[in-house]
Amino acid sequence: MLDRYLALVRQDVDILFDQKGFVRTACPACGEAEATLRFRKNNFSYVMCSACATLYANPRPDFDMLEKFYASSPSSEFWVKEFFMPVAEVRRDKIFRPRAEYASSIVRGRKDLLIGDIGAGFGLFLEELRKILPDHRYVAIEPSPDMAEICRKKNLEVKESCVEMISEMKCSFDFLTAFELLEHLFDPRVFMVKTFELLKPGGFFLFTTLNANGFDILLLDEKSKSVTPPHHINFFTLESVQKLAELVGFEIVKAETPGQLDWDIVEGAIKDDGVVLGRFWDHIARNASVDCKKQLQAWIADNKLSSHMRILARKPVLEEVQGV
Ligand SMILES: [Zn+2]
Repeated sequence: MLDRYLALVRQDVDILFDQKGFVRTACPACGEAEATLRFRKNNFSYVMCSACATLYANPRPDFDMLEKFYASSPSSEFWVKEFFMPVAEVRRDKIFRPRAEYASSIVRGRKDLLIGDIGAGFGLFLEELRKILPDHRYVAIEPSPDMAEICRKKNLEVKESCVEMISEMKCSFDFLTAFELLEHLFDPRVFMVKTFELLKPGGFFLFTTLNANGFDILLLDEKSKSVTPPHHINFFTLESVQKLAELVGFEIVKAETPGQLDWDIVEGAIKDDGVVLGRFWDHIARNASVDCKKQLQAWIADNKLSSHMRILARKPVLEEVQGV
């Protein structure tokens, strides 16, 4: 399924994206212009920032091109109808419920909060969070009309828009989340500024994204299935993404890499896709015990080397006072 989907993405890239319309950009984390080419994939060049090691596609499709791609391309439709839908319930148990349990621990005990999920998709996260904490107001921020409709059917309040385009609701939210979204965005800094604006002072922002210095991404480079232009065009590092959040005014509460799949991804690349990474990793993939692989994954996550990053940030309480 994933391979079929990725083949569709490649076709979409050929049809929808005119490279002449691509925009050159500086580092999405720190603004540094100097960068070196790391690799090319599907006609996209990925460069590494000379200052902060963020890996990013440059040049890249602009905001409008990306919006069109996500709203109406054949691969996006396939993703919604054939890829995501059939496995939605499995993903609910394995991904969305644990995610909601973690998120609920951040605001547990508080009352009457306004909680929003940016890029809410099918609304699974908000549904799960509402089950744990039923007494809050929940808003799904989702630009795709198909997915926004699914959220409405679940009785979620919906803003059918990219967060960048929302002009009202400043200083309204107590808690905003954005899971696996930052890596897709044309301009993550604009996104961060907007998110900051929408939060009340003291409000929390929880987000996850991919780590350029993650185990599987460093080992696999362009062979990584996480590197799928035009979907993933920003790979921050744990340091660079914190720097970006701090630049727009957030304070960092927690930054970690609680990933569980890095080793499975590398093992799959070696065994199923024939990727050659040398005899050591080949030996681990084919001969190591289940327990050995488990320990390896725990070591990767504990040492902040997983490609899955989770950041909890907060808008300072005194921000408005200082602004005056
Ligand atoms: Zn940088």
